[in-house]
Amino acid sequence: MKRFLEKEVVPKIPHWNETGMCDRETWRRLGAQGLVAPSAPVEYGGSGADFFYDAIVIEELAYVRAHALMVSLHSGVCLPYIATFGSEEQKRKYLPGAVSGEVLLGICMSEPAAGSDLQNIRTTAVRDGDDYVLNGSKTFISHGQLGDLFIVAAKTDPKAAPAHTGISLILVEATAPGFRRGRKLDKIGLRGQDTSEIFFEDCRVPRANLLGAKEGLGFPMLMEKLQQERLVISVAAIVWCRRALEDTVAYVKERRAFGRTIADFQNTQFRLAELATEVEIGQSFVDRLLAAHVRGDEIVGEVSMAKWWTTDLLRRLTGQCLQLHGGYGFMREYAISEDYADAAVQTIYAGTNEIMKVIIARRMGLSS
Ligand SMILES: Cc1cc2nc3c(=O)[nH]c(=O)nc-3n(C[C@H](O)[C@H](O)[C@H](O)COP(=O)(O)OP(=O)(O)OC[C@H]3O[C@@H](n4cnc5c(N)ncnc54)[C@H](O)[C@@H]3O)c2cc1C
Repeated sequence: MKRFLEKEVVPKIPHWNETGMCDRETWRRLGAQGLVAPSAPVEYGGSGADFFYDAIVIEELAYVRAHALMVSLHSGVCLPYIATFGSEEQKRKYLPGAVSGEVLLGICMSEPAAGSDLQNIRTTAVRDGDDYVLNGSKTFISHGQLGDLFIVAAKTDPKAAPAHTGISLILVEATAPGFRRGRKLDKIGLRGQDTSEIFFEDCRVPRANLLGAKEGLGFPMLMEKLQQERLVISVAAIVWCRRALEDTVAYVKERRAFGRTIADFQNTQFRLAELATEVEIGQSFVDRLLAAHVRGDEIVGEVSMAKWWTTDLLRRLTGQCLQLHGGYGFMREYAISEDYADAAVQTIYAGTNEIMKVIIARRMGLSS
């Protein structure tokens, strides 16, 4: 896999970062190598491997900084919704293409007025004969320009109390009438990702596109799958930390000041020793959670801890590593500058780190 990435992926990263998205051909090649969703069921084109294999792919991509290729989102977050909750017809229709890299997946939860507060989304899906008609707008949607199929959180019962019981998940193809891609958003980091607005304007999809046995199950389905989404973020965060640290160690051994290398200063040694220690602590925690997740344990509280802690570490670590690069760390030609910018959003998406602490506190019995 490392050889494949070095040859087929790494040379394309600067172009992806310039243009703000990756290319379909690379997805197909990844699929042909069996690297897109290896844990998908065999009957739908996957290898039937366990989630460790997905995690390895996510780690290797993170290590080479191929953040534009969002395998973690496609395989780690979106595909499991269809594999777990999809009807036989939905699985047969969508999974083989998703595994081969032909059908790119995205998930539309966030809206301009509702991110953390998901139960207050305003997008609606109203039944009309054999169809649903969707109206509303989503924002910050990854794969917004490239995606072919989106899992859309919409209110099928806007008056439901409590509000979250009115949310359903509906599969919407990008070719559906009334589906419209909005702006590709201008971001400070993750520049190779096509984060975008998506609009539904009387968007019509068959009722058979509802995920799950009945309407109103969207929220519990999201809660079930968020465990893996947060684990995926933690898996990648620790690898980013490791790569940024390795590159910084190499840099400080080369760069000289006051007649010695930057590495010779005790301040440098202590900082990097502390960060290396934290990376090992984080790796042990993430590895333990990966094993528990593959066993099928319910680890929502622990995964919430890992998500906030590893991404917080990533932000601190990239900031300190940038500092050790001096002025060069501020220059785009040095990877640490991108690491620093890319790290900023890790504490925000997939549930902000504050929301992670809300979940942990609730599980500690500190709030209801
Ligand atoms: C690059 C990128 C990619 C993304 N990809 C996707 C995607 O593919 N699909 C998708 O649906 N969404 C996506 N998102 C959206 C992301 O999940 C949201 O930005 C995130 O959930 C936060 O929501 P918000 O931006 O509305 O912030 P808000 O919810 O407005 O939060 C603002 C601040 O208030 C804090 N806050 C909110 N509620 C509480 C509380 N109860 N207690 C304490 N503090 C609180 C937050 O932690 C945060 O610091 C993406 C975002 C980005 C930036």
